[in-house]
Amino acid sequence: MENEQNKPFIYDFTIDQIQDWIKEQGEPAFRAGQIFDWLYVKRVGSFEDMTNLPKPLRDKLNDSFRFVTLTEITKMSSKDGTVKFLFGLHDNHAIETVIMRHNYGNSVCVTTQVGCRIGCTFCASTLGGLKRDLTAGEIVAQVVQSQKLLDPEDERVSSIVIMGSGEPFENYDATMNFLRIMIDPKGLNIGQRHITVSTSGIVPSMLKFAEENTQINLAISIHAPNDALRSKLMPVNRRFPFEDVINACKYYIEKTGRRITFEYALIGGVNDRPEHAEELASVLQGMLCHVNLIPVNYVPERDYVRTPRDDIFEFQRILQKNNVNATIRREQGHDIAAACGQLRAKHMETTTG
Ligand code: SAH
Repeated sequence: MENEQNKPFIYDFTIDQIQDWIKEQGEPAFRAGQIFDWLYVKRVGSFEDMTNLPKPLRDKLNDSFRFVTLTEITKMSSKDGTVKFLFGLHDNHAIETVIMRHNYGNSVCVTTQVGCRIGCTFCASTLGGLKRDLTAGEIVAQVVQSQKLLDPEDERVSSIVIMGSGEPFENYDATMNFLRIMIDPKGLNIGQRHITVSTSGIVPSMLKFAEENTQINLAISIHAPNDALRSKLMPVNRRFPFEDVINACKYYIEKTGRRITFEYALIGGVNDRPEHAEELASVLQGMLCHVNLIPVNYVPERDYVRTPRDDIFEFQRILQKNNVNATIRREQGHDIAAACGQLRAKHMETTTG
């Protein structure tokens, strides 16, 4: 069909938006629920398969929307059960999605942008800059595809982390629509408390998110205990300084009553010394929060080294001594380059990308 590329993805739309469209077509509202059921419970791949819809409606859907086509460029499976996909999009960009298997369920890590413009010095996702935002539907499709992989085992996606490539709070509307679609009881019905969105600290979006009235978890990539060091590691800190990010966190906590997670990637000799832990503790003391310590993942383009194990424990101990809750992130998928942007970076080396 000639306008195929201009049609929006059906996965872009929340059930309310589909209902609005349905009403415009003069069809009864309950059709929206049926469509959602086909998309997210039965998980069909075409409108033709939606057999309880009248044929003219199926044709209209087909004329107005399309399905997201994620082609599997690579699928790597780790010994620990982690699966990493490299998906190709319709415009030939490539994105990564990771499924992690835990004893408490299956978690999917989704990507929100092709590349990233945040520029964190330790992160592989940002190396080629930002190519484009993903639409809500392209984020949704990553979860649907992951669920399809689990279907034969009768397993379900039980949690989602928005911690793949990209900055979700610079693609705010698509991210919010994605979240609304994921938590819809008529769809995949993922529990809000089992979803975490992670941001590098885009303050205006953080303030907006505080007003959304959801139970979705918020994580902040803090990675440094003060403004100067954070600016060195994360150029975005010059746009939204450390203190403003911390204040936005306090506002969020006050507004929602929800605990915030701070992600802190420990980089040998850079931000992992006992004095950094003490300084971080003094900033976070008394806040409803939790620190997740992440041994930095090796990025070939950077010369960062990992913090020795004992020093990681020492960092954690100092935080805890100051009554700041801290855990060390368990690592998965080491053998398959599962960390942020690594697979796509490799792929881009071998294509013109
Ligand atoms: N842009 C968002 C979403 C990315 S989430 C954000 O910055 O939060 C991915 C998390 O992994 C972030 O906390 C990010 O800072 C972290 N990360 C990126 N590269 C890493 C690396 N090499 N080692 C450890 N953590 C890394």
